[in-house]
Amino acid sequence: MTLDLPLLARGKVREVYDAGGDRLLLVASDRISAYDHVLPTPIPDKGRVLTQLSVWWFEQLAPVLASSGATHHLVSATDVPASVAGRAMLVRRLEMLPVECVARGYLSGSGTAEYQRTGSIRDVPLPAGLVEGSQLPEPVFTPSTKAEAGEHDEPIDFARVVSLVGAARAEELRELTLALYRQGAEIARGAGIVLADTKFEFGLSGGALVLGDEVLTPDSSRFWPASSWSPGAAQPSFDKQYVRDWLTSSGWDRVSPPPELPDDVVAATRERYVAAYEQLTGTAFR
Ligand code: ATP
Ligand code: MG
Repeated sequence: MTLDLPLLARGKVREVYDAGGDRLLLVASDRISAYDHVLPTPIPDKGRVLTQLSVWWFEQLAPVLASSGATHHLVSATDVPASVAGRAMLVRRLEMLPVECVARGYLSGSGTAEYQRTGSIRDVPLPAGLVEGSQLPEPVFTPSTKAEAGEHDEPIDFARVVSLVGAARAEELRELTLALYRQGAEIARGAGIVLADTKFEFGLSGGALVLGDEVLTPDSSRFWPASSWSPGAAQPSFDKQYVRDWLTSSGWDRVSPPPELPDDVVAATRERYVAAYEQLTGTAFR
């Protein structure tokens, strides 16, 4: 697929085009990544599902943003070239802040590992006795660096955020990240889904804080079916854990080129993305 626009960046999953003036076109592909590799087999409709879900969330979150004097970057999801219709967003170009703003309401993955080592997550001490999948007493802000392509994001504490963006901006990022997480988690809970954690990216436009990137998708968040939530082990999820588990069981070493996914794994993965969209938004995916 080539668009008649200058390509600015190509990530593992998305392309960023210059759409003229202060506009960018963010195009989501059907590629899926796991363990920092792009898999050779695409997941049909994944780009459309993630874009449509993100667009839906921007609308849901607009009031929370407005109450902090912030906005989001989405300009239009319809005024886009026909060849990428449904999986592209026209957005305001931002000066991105060098922090990945992660909020966690539940213990999982690298959060569990950190807690087991230190009894805390970053600079936030936690009560004893929590296990994989436990709800935290309060959601916590656990930022990381925004790594250059090919590098891993590195966990950082709040003091490091202050040194990167200044004290006032750091405080604003933490408060807004937690407010957006709380609102997202409440909406998801009403749809029978636990929002375990998520990552937001913010940028500046004319000095004002703007929510950018994609929001509250299965690629940037952990979603668990609320009906089966049961702390103590890995939770069933709507994200790519299913694919990760299949890759592990296939014997892939996570270093050599990843294997093709069989048709049934592709279909089951697509189903999970579509189910997340339909359950959250309450509308059929078309
Ligand atoms: P990868 O996914 O391969 O690890 P990546 O995160 O850089 O790399 P994508 O997420 O596919 O790749 O690309 C989206 C890029 O666009 C990110 O760098 C993101 O920070 C940036 N971005 C998102 N929204 C905006 C915006 N409104 N203005 C400028 N840059 C943006
Ligand atoms: Mg990204």
